[in-house]
Amino acid sequence: MNYISTRSGCGPDSPPIGFLDAVLAGLAPDGGLYVPQTWPAFTPEEIAAFGGKPYHQVAAAVLGRFAGDEIPADVLGDMCREAYDSFSHAATAPLKQLYPDTYLLELFHGPTLAFKDVAMQLLGRLYDYALKRQGRKITILAATSGDTGGAAVEAFRGRSNVNIVVLFPDGRISEVQRRFMTTATEANVRCVAVQGTFDDCQGILKAAFQDDQFRTAVDLSAVNSINFARIAAQCVYYFTAAVALGAPATSPAFVVPTGNFGDAFAGYVAHAMGLPISRILTATNSNDIVARAFTEGRYSRGVVAPTQSPAMDIQVASNFERLYFECARRDGLETGRAFQAFASTGGLDIPPAALAAMRDLFAGASVSETDTSAAMVSTLNETGELIDPHTAVAVAAARRLGSPSPYAPQIVLSTAHPAKFTEAVHAATGVIPPSPRGAGELAARPERFDRLPADGEAVKAYVRDFAIG
Ligand SMILES: *Cc1c(COP(=O)(O)O)cnc(C)c1O
Repeated sequence: MNYISTRSGCGPDSPPIGFLDAVLAGLAPDGGLYVPQTWPAFTPEEIAAFGGKPYHQVAAAVLGRFAGDEIPADVLGDMCREAYDSFSHAATAPLKQLYPDTYLLELFHGPTLAFKDVAMQLLGRLYDYALKRQGRKITILAATSGDTGGAAVEAFRGRSNVNIVVLFPDGRISEVQRRFMTTATEANVRCVAVQGTFDDCQGILKAAFQDDQFRTAVDLSAVNSINFARIAAQCVYYFTAAVALGAPATSPAFVVPTGNFGDAFAGYVAHAMGLPISRILTATNSNDIVARAFTEGRYSRGVVAPTQSPAMDIQVASNFERLYFECARRDGLETGRAFQAFASTGGLDIPPAALAAMRDLFAGASVSETDTSAAMVSTLNETGELIDPHTAVAVAAARRLGSPSPYAPQIVLSTAHPAKFTEAVHAATGVIPPSPRGAGELAARPERFDRLPADGEAVKAYVRDFAIG
């Protein structure tokens, strides 16, 4: 299976590359994102046969289609088993019924209590495998709106062929999120509090990747959700959840708390691979670039407003470029031009045919802070479940739009454990979420991080100094 850039044919040549190379590269040299040359597919019988299988086996089957012959099946099987052994729930991603037609898909049973672990635990092992084979040592630069950083540190700390630097927006993430990163003691980990927003952090990261000299000098790699392996790992739970509720005979709807659009795009991928899905509702907080794209047909950056669901405080949703490419007949020239223009003007109009193709599967809704708090309260009162603010955004959006068909169960992705956002959950419900194993000890451990201005040159100098001295 080869991977092509969403900007193929636009700017510097980015030839097709294999799976492991695409994983290690992150962003393509032309600034585009990698996608498979063609979508692998499962038959309805193959999908039905996922029913009742352990999660790691479904993961190995799905990942195997993306890796092709680059990773032997037994090696990939072991990676998936080990990755999901780190989860505290035997089902890895269990479903919980909330209402007659509404289910929560709990994605937060990994080591850092957020759904980012689902992909990152696998990514750490994929990197290890690829780097050992190539005899390479690389530098991972990650920008986090809160949860990616901890999950990445947890997946890569102590790995001998990786140095990792995580950029986070100073003061804009929760204390538990920060501590998951800053309490790591391994020498290959550095955390940087950037004096700016997540979009500043992501902008610095993108610019660093486009600096050829810097990228080569430190052998730079990205584990943000632009990394295709994360998307591949995340589409697995769309399969397991849908099949548990009767797919492929039923066609469930998914509701996805959305920031960078990686998780929602993984749903598109599962659908492209043959999984029946009746709708993917992207739920945003007031940082609503994705919701507006679907409702108004214009993808345009707004000003980032801090909310109680900080992992979604994003006004540039990098993975949206992948959906645009798919819905623009996979035209790399058009996609490249559109997103280069977006980078300079901050907006782009989605052509009518592409917008119609998007709306075939996607809808969007933006949820206020008041409605987010209200969803935490009503869910607790009506079901006894304490949900985190990101999940609450999705629950509120699901209520507002209702089920797309009376026969389609709605599956709400629950992306973080409530204990990761104690302050917000407590403020809304008056209840302090009980701390699951591990999380409580974090408060006692010393933190280690540096502060830098939101300046690309300063960050590059810091990374260069750490990686190559
Ligand atoms: C990252 C994150 C999201 C948003 O996921 P995207 O793939 O960026 O859209 C939602 N909720 C939580 C808790 C997250 O950590």
